[in-house]
Amino acid sequence: MDASDISDDLDQVLLTEDQLHQRLDELAATIDADYAGRELLLVGVLKGAVMVMADLARRLHVPVQMDWMAVSSYGSGTKSSGVVRILKDLDTDVTGQHVLIVEDIVDSGLTLSWLLANLRSRGPASVEVATLLRKPESAKVSLDVRYVGFDIPPAFVVGYGLDHDQRYRNLPFVATLAPHVYADD
Ligand code: 5GP
Repeated sequence: MDASDISDDLDQVLLTEDQLHQRLDELAATIDADYAGRELLLVGVLKGAVMVMADLARRLHVPVQMDWMAVSSYGSGTKSSGVVRILKDLDTDVTGQHVLIVEDIVDSGLTLSWLLANLRSRGPASVEVATLLRKPESAKVSLDVRYVGFDIPPAFVVGYGLDHDQRYRNLPFVATLAPHVYADD
């Protein structure tokens, strides 16, 4: 899928495929250096983190395991409430493991805050967070996110794993949508 497939729905490309890949190269190099000599458990948060997990994991040289969680945040419409339900839990016991949560986007931070507390309660050796995108102006809780790809304005974005109504996840870039796409929301 590329921009020509959805040109009528697109407003603005915020981050190109090249920009995303270049930043992932940098993040992977930093993570490799930080975790040298250790093994990492990457925990991807479904479904949005699928692309960043796949592309980040392939750039890492430290040994990694990969596992997935799916969570749903109770809330109205697109707003997160911070009350989270686990839809799919890890298959892995994280006790004593160095865990790196891999996120697509941190908006209010409420979902991540819950996830951090949940994983920390399971006795890992460490828990850190890597997120491709973060919206600092939307933050409702202050979180220590160790690896951030890009800080972006508080607009709703799609692509590279992120959806609107389950669509656009397979765009190779991150974009905002044209207003008519939201008309029925
Ligand atoms: P938070 O709890 O940080 O407010 O919400 C995080 C979740 O909300 C993300 O994992 C993502 O599923 C969704 N989300 C927040 N902002 C956006 C956005 O701009 N685009 C899309 N597609 N999802 C978003």
